Amino acid sequence: MTKRQSVSDLHAAHDLARDNRTFQTSSQDAGCFCCVSIFPAQKVTKWCPDKIQGRWKDNVTALCPYCGVDSVIFDAQHVLSLPWLGDMEQQWFSLIGRRKEISDGKA
Ligand SMILES: [Zn+2]
Repeated sequence: MTKRQSVSDLHAAHDLARDNRTFQTSSQDAGCFCCVSIFPAQKVTKWCPDKIQGRWKDNVTALCPYCGVDSVIFDAQHVLSLPWLGDMEQQWFSLIGRRKEISDGKA
């Protein structure tokens, strides 16, 4: 039943989890693709700095209220569902060791 997202969609969606604070007020829900959960957007109260287009910005990226990871996407950014968050988890966390190797040298 669930249409699988293409890998390129999942890559594009990963960027949604950065510099996303401005979407909180226009969202009902937020989802985390680390712990694969959906919760009210207002539950997000912690934010971390992120490097956006080469410059660090303070408190711009949502941290999950449950697992504390910066892998939160608001429903104003993307339609949220648990199967989709599960696909994201597979893509980004199950493969995180490999991803680090691939992007090595950018630290
Ligand atoms: Zn989480």
